[in-house]
Amino acid sequence: MKTKIILAYSLAAFSAVAGERGIFGLYGDTPDAKHAWAVHDFNRPYPKQVETPPGKPPSDAIVLFDGTQKSVDENWCDRKGNPTKWRVKDGLFVCTPGSGLACTKRAFGDAQFHVEWLSPVADAKKHGQLGGNSGVIPMGRYEIQILNSYDPDPSADVERNYPDGIAASVYAQNPPLVNASRPAGVWQTYDIIFHQPIWKDGKVLHPGTVTVLHNGVLVQDAWELEGMATHRVRIPLRQHATKLPWMLQDHGDPVPFRNIWIREIPSRWDNTTHSEMSAKEEDVRSLRDKTAAALFAKIDLNVPDAKNVNGILEVLSYSKKPEYLKAAKSLCAGYDAWLKSLPPDKLAANKRYIDGTLKGFNVLIRNKVIGANDYPLRATLEQFSKQK
Ligand code: MG
Repeated sequence: MKTKIILAYSLAAFSAVAGERGIFGLYGDTPDAKHAWAVHDFNRPYPKQVETPPGKPPSDAIVLFDGTQKSVDENWCDRKGNPTKWRVKDGLFVCTPGSGLACTKRAFGDAQFHVEWLSPVADAKKHGQLGGNSGVIPMGRYEIQILNSYDPDPSADVERNYPDGIAASVYAQNPPLVNASRPAGVWQTYDIIFHQPIWKDGKVLHPGTVTVLHNGVLVQDAWELEGMATHRVRIPLRQHATKLPWMLQDHGDPVPFRNIWIREIPSRWDNTTHSEMSAKEEDVRSLRDKTAAALFAKIDLNVPDAKNVNGILEVLSYSKKPEYLKAAKSLCAGYDAWLKSLPPDKLAANKRYIDGTLKGFNVLIRNKVIGANDYPLRATLEQFSKQK
């Protein structure tokens, strides 16, 4: 036991230098049936870095048009898969009226889409649906309208459009929250976050949503899709493939585009291990068991020090397999005995580990992982923690 005590003490001293993170794993509320990770869980996978150089697409974006004919040849076609008749002019991708939709060669589902467009000045005097009409059509089904809709004077006697058909409307469904349009001849941006409808057994489980920032202004706030893009009539949602080409509309106007990119994003329903909405309890259980096993493998069961005690407490937050409970009893009893054997000056030197381990116990008790009196060590920690 003496060897163990010395080792525990030296480890504690080392870790004080190395940082407390390695010792005190338990911090936020523990995993539960719908959450594979604790609050502030350092074991949780860390997000991948994406580079975001100013004025350029994010590093993980698929660039669909960068001003070159090459990017058109690689990424765009007509509806039949033939080369698009839309033209590259002065670095812009311009609709050739009457040639039909421009379709992405690749199929996409849920995605973040960026595009810049401009209403031709020559169209500025046109009214109704005839001024610079185009549209972004996610999955070839739902249209985010593109139109010359700048309208700064509500008292002006001009022929206006139906609100669910102006720029940034979800066409025939929902007008934008505000009209963030710029005048004809000025470049505009759309940033669209699109989630397709989710189907189960032929029925809509969730209708999907579209969020649109128009020139940086939120104009569609997770609008729930009501059906296919249409005119005059309502066509309800119909089940379709989970990936389809995205399209730009040819409505007879030579609308130019630039800087088009897309990022594929996960469905909200893909997260089956950490979500009140979509988590599957068997997936959560499985990941918790896996994490517990990985953490348990790092514990030295022969060294009942603060590090290993906190390690086993963290393991218990993921899983209470009999093997882990047995190890917890043994490590806690050993650490308890060691603390009680310390002279007052050494006890004072261990104050931060005593306080930290007590916090770990309290997290488990607060989350009902263990009972308040399951481990005598906790009472010892509490007693020593109160001492000055
Ligand atoms: Mg349109």
